[in-house]
Amino acid sequence: MVYENVLITGANGQIGSVLTEYLRGIYGSDHVIASDLKFPEIRNGRFEILDATNAASLAAMVRKYRVTQIYHLAAILSAKGEQNPLETWHINMQTYFNVLEAARENGVKKVFYPSSIAVFGEHVGDEAAQWSYLDPATVYGISKSAGENWSNYYFKRYGLDVRSLRYPGIIGYQSMPGGGTTDYAVDIYHKAVKKEVFECFLNSGTVLPMIYISDAMDATIRLMEAPQQKITVRTSYNLAGMSFSPEEIAASIRKTIPDFSIVYKPDFRQKIADSWPRQIDDAQARNDWAWRPAYNLDKMTEEMISELQKKYQ
Ligand code: NAD
Repeated sequence: MVYENVLITGANGQIGSVLTEYLRGIYGSDHVIASDLKFPEIRNGRFEILDATNAASLAAMVRKYRVTQIYHLAAILSAKGEQNPLETWHINMQTYFNVLEAARENGVKKVFYPSSIAVFGEHVGDEAAQWSYLDPATVYGISKSAGENWSNYYFKRYGLDVRSLRYPGIIGYQSMPGGGTTDYAVDIYHKAVKKEVFECFLNSGTVLPMIYISDAMDATIRLMEAPQQKITVRTSYNLAGMSFSPEEIAASIRKTIPDFSIVYKPDFRQKIADSWPRQIDDAQARNDWAWRPAYNLDKMTEEMISELQKKYQ
């Protein structure tokens, strides 16, 4: 039997804490090494402290565990990234270069790179096509679009099997988001279940592309397990789940929690949201590796509320 050894960077974050468990379910606990800047609150498997800006530490980790796949999640996200643009560029790019080089030099078979809808800018209009022009408005989006091109470069130049998705805003009950522009759509459920008034940092009608966490995990695993010849996009695949505005998610919540109330206090994140498309055309992912989301807004709301009610009981 051929074993896979998987290294995850930035594993303590919103996505990493869930993805780590999915990957442990597939490859076995001993074969998935989670890593981040510090230990997680709950440790239930192999974990290493790893600052991914440190090339030597990252390469040593790849050799120590004979790593065959890297999921590179470490990054500074869209809203947080605007507080310190040059530092964000440094962290997002340096960590990715270190991953690409460690992979190339040590025979790593596959790399997963999470891109984002933040790669799109004002010239895209309402719906982003797979090959829409990329003129991102944030340093985060600029770093992700550069990362996409480097992914393509390493595939074409060195044959490194890098695969990537442009995630929309990810919504899940298991973990809290880490400084993105779509974070409100997670926080809103926590406030609703705790019977608190929700103060929204976006305007009521701001429609953004989102995806439920289990659909995001399904897409990630499907992409990574697809036969190589099915992967026709080596920059990053568009991925869509659903699109909605704060007033639509509030209406969906009120179907279960009728007295839920929301007030709107848009801040600097409104401008970022306004630069993003409302819809994503993911036909290429659907055609190439049979991607289909399973959740719409109401189905996600039901699950979020019932899971969070268990958590806050
Ligand atoms: P997050 O902010 O919740 O987690 C990121 C993790 O990276 C944190 O635990 C942080 O400690 C770690 N990190 C930061 N700098 C590091 C470094 N130098 N070395 C090692 N670890 C470091 O982010 P997330 O939401 O889990 O996102 C994971 C990835 O998915 C990111 O690359 C992000 O850009 C991408 N993404 C996320 C979303 C979303 O909605 N959550 C959407 C699109 C793309």
